[in-house]
Amino acid sequence: MDDKITRREALKGIFFTGMGIAASSLLLKSQNSSAGPRTHQIPWKEAPAGTKIDSRTWDKMGETLGMLGLGCMRLPTLSGDTGGYGRRRPLDQEAVNKMVDYAIEHGINYFDTAPAYGESEVVTGKALSRHPRSSFKIATKLSNMNGRATLEAGKQMFETSLKNLQVDYIDFLLLHNLQNMSGFNTRFRNNGLFDWILEQKASGRIKHLGFSFHGTNDDLPGLVDLYDWDFVQIQLNYADWKEMSRGWGGSSGTTSSEFLYNYLVGKGIPVLVMEPVKGGALANVSEGVATVLRERHPDLSPAANALTFVGSLPGVMVTLSGMSNMEQLKENVSLFTDFKPFSDSDMAFMHNVADLYKSKGQIPCTACSYCMPCPAGVDIPGNFKIFNSASDALLTSETGRKDVVEKRKAFLNLYNAQEKGIRADACISCNTCLPKCPQHISIPQHLERIRELAARI
Ligand code: SF4
Ligand code: SF4
Repeated sequence: MDDKITRREALKGIFFTGMGIAASSLLLKSQNSSAGPRTHQIPWKEAPAGTKIDSRTWDKMGETLGMLGLGCMRLPTLSGDTGGYGRRRPLDQEAVNKMVDYAIEHGINYFDTAPAYGESEVVTGKALSRHPRSSFKIATKLSNMNGRATLEAGKQMFETSLKNLQVDYIDFLLLHNLQNMSGFNTRFRNNGLFDWILEQKASGRIKHLGFSFHGTNDDLPGLVDLYDWDFVQIQLNYADWKEMSRGWGGSSGTTSSEFLYNYLVGKGIPVLVMEPVKGGALANVSEGVATVLRERHPDLSPAANALTFVGSLPGVMVTLSGMSNMEQLKENVSLFTDFKPFSDSDMAFMHNVADLYKSKGQIPCTACSYCMPCPAGVDIPGNFKIFNSASDALLTSETGRKDVVEKRKAFLNLYNAQEKGIRADACISCNTCLPKCPQHISIPQHLERIRELAARI
């Protein structure tokens, strides 16, 4: 296979420059969407029965997709626990059925899952099989990471996905978690898997082909030039717009949602967005950040602010939100029904909020659990969640302040309430988790800091 598989034709489409937003009707036209910025604040209420979320049409693909997609990585579990390593615990089929029914009734037609999401494909497949095939689009992935990079393993994974999802074609197939050319070569080129994937596409078993990206700004162009991709999935949210936190030994370079988005839009490639709420972190911001958001948009929750930021970008094909219960789904459906995009000044405001958010020193964990299982038993995302619940109080030098003392106590209680074997102090610094984290978090170093803090308070 040549480096250049297919060269994209002259670039047309949409471009997002600075804070100005422009859309080309060649690629995108909004349907059922309110023009103009959000000017009236309306308290959140459930979208009436019979209404649908706004959609966008992507002419080149011939698809009309609801602006909001149901991410199936954090589906409800029977235990009710969706945090930490929860996605591998038994999922609640009945609850998922109800969510899928509500989603389809309200115009969500994009459902995103992956073999790497535990039971998700099976449960999502069961829920969707109760609906006509024409009423939903399935997105799944080739998650051939972690020693599964052979041709046979890749083929088997794709066939299993079809079986689990009870379909005979995949609408949107993604090469999962591409970071750089070396990863593409190992997992897809050298073993012949990419050629096989292209054969499946030619035969109609894959309708649209793309990849999910977790590399640096410098890594994206080479991957984009490999093939005439139908779409690309990137991490995009207001906190990561200017720069994502990165940094463990093997990773250098910068990643920013702004660069990735503008690059893809400049190439005329629809942008699929993951982590618009940063794995829930932007829904559970500190009180200081929440207050600033509330003053500007009293009707929007922190999560709704984050989702509106993403939905306001015209090159975004679908905003995926990993919803864990009906309440979240209903609020998100309400937000994307008669969607009110942010004005340019709202977008600029969100960049300032990002600076404030970052000053709180949160660990940029999205609770994806790709780093799990830890051989020593540590619940990595669970410990990071506990730290993030009090990060500003843990990092401030004003340790005598009443609110700081209370937050630190609350942190310690949560930390100690964990079983001993899953706490940060069980980490043996083996570094097994490091290369698995798509956020490139210095996991053992952060765990060591959490251990120290817990011992000191
Ligand atoms: S470095 Fe620590 S957290 Fe990571 S896999 Fe090893 S023991 Fe687990
Ligand atoms: S530490 Fe990284 S891999 Fe692990 S859950 Fe958080 S973001 Fe995902």
